Amino acid sequence: MAFYSQEEKSEDYLFKIVLIGDSAVGKSNLLARFARGEFYLNSKSTIGVEFQTQKMDVDGKEIKAQIWDTAGQERFRAVTSAYYRGAVGALLVYDISRHQTFDSIGRWLNELHTHSDMNVVTILIGNKSDLKDAREVSTAEGKALAEAQGLYFMETSALDSSNVAAAFQTVVREIYNILSRKVI
Ligand code: GDP
Ligand code: MG
Repeated sequence: MAFYSQEEKSEDYLFKIVLIGDSAVGKSNLLARFARGEFYLNSKSTIGVEFQTQKMDVDGKEIKAQIWDTAGQERFRAVTSAYYRGAVGALLVYDISRHQTFDSIGRWLNELHTHSDMNVVTILIGNKSDLKDAREVSTAEGKALAEAQGLYFMETSALDSSNVAAAFQTVVREIYNILSRKVI
């Protein structure tokens, strides 16, 4: 009979999830908002930090999401293969107020697929949805790219918290679903 004791609960899941996308799209702030409820106007917060582990709950299971953030190396297109290694989820982020960051998404997808498993669960994120007057990428454009590439899609704001937890939860839940289908 399936029965989960406290001891077994501590053996629950650990998922590595990577944040990728151009410099200054808000990757570090999405993580800061999600994991610590914080926001930084000038974020130098990630210097020296490789990842942060966040406990989450899916169907009563405790899941540890180990969320990796760059330390600014994406500025030099120098994200290493070690960063991607073992990742089962990815948040692919652009800034809705800078179209050039959306134009880079194809390159990030290529890089992700070069360095990690093809079926890494990926969500395309249009961040800074609070910047309504400065919008350069329409919601329809984001959605269309996500559909074409088979990605989840959400617009978020690390500033006002909109959809931030939902974005991380979508990825974690889908990884969990894939895993439990495989196990069963
Ligand atoms: P990263 O380089 O992708 O890690 O981006 P950061 O998290 O360092 O953010 C870059 C800049 O964008 C900072 O000045 C942040 O305050 C700002 N920023 C991040 N997320 C948002 C957001 O959702 N809305 C707005 N208005 N600004 C944001
Ligand atoms: Mg950063």
